Amino acid sequence: MYEWIRKHPASHLALVTADDRLTWAMLRTESLQLAQFIHEQTPTAKRIGIFAKNSKDYVIAVHAVHLLGKVLVPLNTRLTEEEVRTQLQTAKVDLLLVDVEIDLSITQLLITRRTTSCFTVTHEWKEDETMSLMFTSGTTGRAKAVQQTYGNHLASARAAEAHLDYRPSDRMLAVTPLFHMSGLSQVYRSAIIGSTLYVEPRFDVDRTLHVIETEGITQLSLVSIMLQRLLYAGLKKHHLRTLLVGGGPVPRSLLEEAERRQLPIAQTYGMTETCSQVATLLPSEALSHIGSSGQAIAPTRIRINSDGEIEVKGPTVTKGYFEQPESDAWTPDGYWRTGDLGTMRDGYLYVHDRRTDLILSGGENVYPAEIEAAMLRCTGVQDVGVTKQAHPTWGEVPIAFVVGSYDPAEMQEVLDSQLAKYKHPIAIHYAPNLPRNANGKLMRHRLKELLS
Ligand code: AMP
Ligand code: MG
Ligand code: MG
Repeated sequence: MYEWIRKHPASHLALVTADDRLTWAMLRTESLQLAQFIHEQTPTAKRIGIFAKNSKDYVIAVHAVHLLGKVLVPLNTRLTEEEVRTQLQTAKVDLLLVDVEIDLSITQLLITRRTTSCFTVTHEWKEDETMSLMFTSGTTGRAKAVQQTYGNHLASARAAEAHLDYRPSDRMLAVTPLFHMSGLSQVYRSAIIGSTLYVEPRFDVDRTLHVIETEGITQLSLVSIMLQRLLYAGLKKHHLRTLLVGGGPVPRSLLEEAERRQLPIAQTYGMTETCSQVATLLPSEALSHIGSSGQAIAPTRIRINSDGEIEVKGPTVTKGYFEQPESDAWTPDGYWRTGDLGTMRDGYLYVHDRRTDLILSGGENVYPAEIEAAMLRCTGVQDVGVTKQAHPTWGEVPIAFVVGSYDPAEMQEVLDSQLAKYKHPIAIHYAPNLPRNANGKLMRHRLKELLS
């Protein structure tokens, strides 16, 4: 781990926020000073949680924890006190690093603290040693602590380097939370490759456009709702080399608009359990394979089982949930069962939906994401979420929740031209906004709460 941040040129920019610009030398020193402070205060802590907003100090804290040889547990700052308490127990966290102290009975230290002396690093990370525990973003409602090893993080960054051509000269902008894999993986990627990481406290459309333009950002990771908002606000290419869009399907209309503006979109498929991407559709393939998440990133292998579920095997796949062994998580030949449905055509992966989101209507499989993508084409629709409802004749039927205002006649035309009749939502409800997690991902299991 220490070699990750030690080997880069001392004067090269490592970390940039609105208020600070740190070289690798500065990042190293501050990380070692925070590590020394933690070591002096609580030398025996094994698993160290972080409960803080994205900031320069968050990144320093990530490095400090690993320099100490400890396991990092990033916590979602949007959770309730009760949810945080449960996660702290599940992950057996014995020290919490915070930006503001919170009302929980656990030892807390501020991530802004430093000592004047630097910590002397002795720990050497091994391939299969757990380095972090990250709770899945909880779009299915149950939070589990996924273990990522040193080898997982390394393989993930190396894959980005080999397949997406990440370079030390890259300027990567993180606008998603560092407590989710999409954000945190950029911290590791920057440290392993030596590229400059820009960190924003949260996703703000105007601020993001400003940073992309003025700092010449080359790499950006997003979920599709963020891409939609950036496009609407006038996003242009500038110096962008890759816009990595993951976490869910990207509607075709967005891909087409991005193409018109020559924005290099790379659609990607991955999950916390696979330490970020396992398949990516390169910008050069975007239009020839519209709707696909691309090919498996070697040496990772992807296949579809007889139930249509995506299975993955490779060096980024987790060794399991922390102290929650699940014997049916793997196939007998060592593939991870993702719980996602998909198809493979000519080596290209098409992700449909979570197995649990699938709507079985009169013997047909109906995919909510496909309906959402179609409905987004109707003028005035800003956001759509589709889920299932029980039905006496069909078993299950889709219902939709729409943000925005639209002409029902146009919506009917869109549905008629885009979707088979059995895929049409049986009801369309107006919603002021949709339940999305901190990363902007739709939480389909919570859509029905909008009815009450
Ligand atoms: P997380 O639990 O936050 O790690 O999210 C991982 C899940 O997001 C996957 O298991 C999929 O259900 C979904 N997902 C990620 N990438 C894609 C994609 N390209 N297309 C469709 N769904 C995706
Ligand atoms: Mg998941
Ligand atoms: Mg999830």
